[in-house]
Amino acid sequence: MKEENKKFIEEKYSKYLKNLYYRKTKFLPDYKEQIQKYKSLSRLKNIDIFYNAISNPKKIEKKEKPLVGYFCALVPEELIIACGGEPIRLCNEDLHYLEFGEEIVSGDICPLVKAICGSFCQNNFNNIDLLVTTGTCDSKIKLSEILSPVVKDIYFIDLPRNSDYKESINYWENSYSNFYEYLKKKFNVKPTRKDLIKVCEITNERTRIFRRIYDLKAKKIGVMNSFDYFIMTNSSFFLSPYEWSEHAKILYEEMLKTNTEEDKYKKKILLAGPPIIFPNFKILEILEEIGCYVGAEIMCSSYGYLFNPVELDEETERSILRTLTLKYIAPSFCPCFLGIDKIINAILELFEKYKLDGVIFYNLRLCNVYEIEIPILRNILKEKEIPFLSIKTDLGKEDIGQIKTRIEAFIEMID
Ligand code: SF4
Ligand code: SF4
Repeated sequence: MKEENKKFIEEKYSKYLKNLYYRKTKFLPDYKEQIQKYKSLSRLKNIDIFYNAISNPKKIEKKEKPLVGYFCALVPEELIIACGGEPIRLCNEDLHYLEFGEEIVSGDICPLVKAICGSFCQNNFNNIDLLVTTGTCDSKIKLSEILSPVVKDIYFIDLPRNSDYKESINYWENSYSNFYEYLKKKFNVKPTRKDLIKVCEITNERTRIFRRIYDLKAKKIGVMNSFDYFIMTNSSFFLSPYEWSEHAKILYEEMLKTNTEEDKYKKKILLAGPPIIFPNFKILEILEEIGCYVGAEIMCSSYGYLFNPVELDEETERSILRTLTLKYIAPSFCPCFLGIDKIINAILELFEKYKLDGVIFYNLRLCNVYEIEIPILRNILKEKEIPFLSIKTDLGKEDIGQIKTRIEAFIEMID
């Protein structure tokens, strides 16, 4: 039986919203110049494939497999792949799209959500067969309704507010299990236990190679600049886990043979905060220009998405679903859930392990869930004598000079 398409606003209301999305001029941002600039600064020749994956991702081509769009690091892509779908993460931080989004969701809404709405103004998403939203921050939840008029089908994954797995594992697992059943019906497939294990092994392989790159980058200063690193991790939104891992293995071999560039960088920091998504590399441009090396990061678009494996030990479908759930819930740093201890522990561990000089917390204006964590972190890190700087910004370029001055002063202050 095929699953009915779901809408979160009745047709009688959604028809009034549809025209907000249709623009007179066809617009597709051109990233060629920006990509070219970053490529010219790269020391790694095997990075090109990742830049190519990013260069025009918003033009979503129809594929043989059903396309499943989603926004959060908490959507279990293994279940989508096991059901024959192709997951594609549609988070957006393009200033042009933000301006379009203003006309759909004006007001004090975070720039990431506005840019997502704006990106749906083109008809590029007609090829998306299913959109998956999550019970994370309020704005992400409301995307289910806001985008309802322009997508074929939406599935909402509800999640409990506590990411302590002992407290929430049953609820969380149940949400994933319902999602899996939904996908099976929608795509009319019956994946076996072995199919699911195979997919988990593929994403685990991606985790293995990501961990090696993360560690090497942290230890060998300058081996990979911040542009290359975030392009490489962002490209995992569009490349299949298998494809990404194969390219990443080649890149890792090259990194092993590449010298450090210690003279170029004055300090080595940990970067935290909401996802950094191309083309919004403003903070990275400033850090590179100042000579500040991102030795470690804990963002949900990179570390929080690629670092953790599915611990496959028992192998019934139920047990696989449970360990898969643990992969997403146990290490989650997403600030929408209770669980700030995990972020604090990770920062302290990474700071110690990679002998970092300080922590920069970068936040997007109007993101309350990240903002509320800053004073807690500041006070704890101050007690531990760890230099800490928080920056609040948006997708515009007006504050570049001001942010640069603040980071320069921070770097000077660290002895
Ligand atoms: S921080 Fe949380 S809500 Fe925001 S994109 Fe990441 S996983 Fe989603
Ligand atoms: S968690 Fe913050 S940055 Fe992410 S979508 Fe929600 S409000 Fe925006």
